[in-house]
Amino acid sequence: MKFLMFGTRQDEIEWAEKWGKENQVEITTRPELLTENTVDDVKGYDGISVLQQAPIDSEVIYQKLADFGIKIISLRSTGYDTVNLALAKKYHLAVSNVPGYSTRSIGELVLTQAMHLLRHIGIVEDRESRGDFSFEGLESKEIHQLTVGVIGVGRIGMTVASLFKALGSEVIGYDPYKKPNPEDPVKYVSYDELIKNADIITVHMQLTDDTKHMIDQNTFKQMKNSALFLNMARGGIVNTKDLIEALKNHEIAGAAIDTIEDEAGIFGVDRQNGYDNPMLKELIEMPNVSVTPHIAFYTEPAVQNMVEYCLEDSYKFLKGEGVDHLVNLD
Ligand code: NAD
Repeated sequence: MKFLMFGTRQDEIEWAEKWGKENQVEITTRPELLTENTVDDVKGYDGISVLQQAPIDSEVIYQKLADFGIKIISLRSTGYDTVNLALAKKYHLAVSNVPGYSTRSIGELVLTQAMHLLRHIGIVEDRESRGDFSFEGLESKEIHQLTVGVIGVGRIGMTVASLFKALGSEVIGYDPYKKPNPEDPVKYVSYDELIKNADIITVHMQLTDDTKHMIDQNTFKQMKNSALFLNMARGGIVNTKDLIEALKNHEIAGAAIDTIEDEAGIFGVDRQNGYDNPMLKELIEMPNVSVTPHIAFYTEPAVQNMVEYCLEDSYKFLKGEGVDHLVNLD
């Protein structure tokens, strides 16, 4: 078999080559994304592996993939909002993702950023850059005094809940599709209760039509003025304009985001020559906001698992074996 891997980073190549050798699959890696310009190169390959922030939204791509005999689009990411599932279905293309490559990778960045905001590190560094070493306004709570609200208690949300629970925080969660288990490290509450009572609020659901802009000005207005808000899931879950207004109006105390609307072409790229996303620029300039460029997933175990699980799913699907991580064709 022959597989073509799009959007390949340097750090993935070692794991791809190792997996290819072990499974006698010829793997070609390339850094470009799957687009209308690159789809013709798929001809002659049995499988494709895709990792990209830019959506695959052109019907021509799906049509050509089907024409070339491709049966499955295998993503090396958890999020599958980059794929148009209706078009995939129309052209009988299965789609797989990698849901559980390392929930710790995201959980540990959530913890890092929560601590960063809690201890006002951004404000401290901003003051220090101006020679101001004063203490005023820097007193903080300790993590065990706080209530952490997890919205979306899935794989990642559950890991986040365990990490904060282990540090002594009270953890509350909201997830309309979750069947509560008494063993869960979280007390399930209503959405309103979570928004009103949590000191740290972190979102961990998929971006869908239902969750798009779920966090908006109404949500921020209900939060405590001292609340810290974190988004390591998907930019579109939050109305970014409303987030900026809430920070400016002191409706919340700080925010950490690893993802933002219209991040494609910016996050993951050296854009020292400039970029066009005024809301991102505004957030970066705020000392009580910490922005990371979609690196929550980026740990060594996660990279290895993303590559191996993705190739494995494609391989099994093509051999007619069961695949655990199909996101369509149910
Ligand atoms: P998951 O499917 O295991 O969990 C999502 C949970 O959200 C589910 O339990 C679901 O019931 C719940 N949910 C759905 N709609 C909801 C709603 N309206 N309100 C509250 N909960 C709702 O997914 P996961 O693997 O935990 O991933 C969560 C998110 O993290 C995804 O958006 C994914 O794209 C993102 N992610 C980001 C990074 C990164 O590097 N920043 C890496 C991996 C995953």
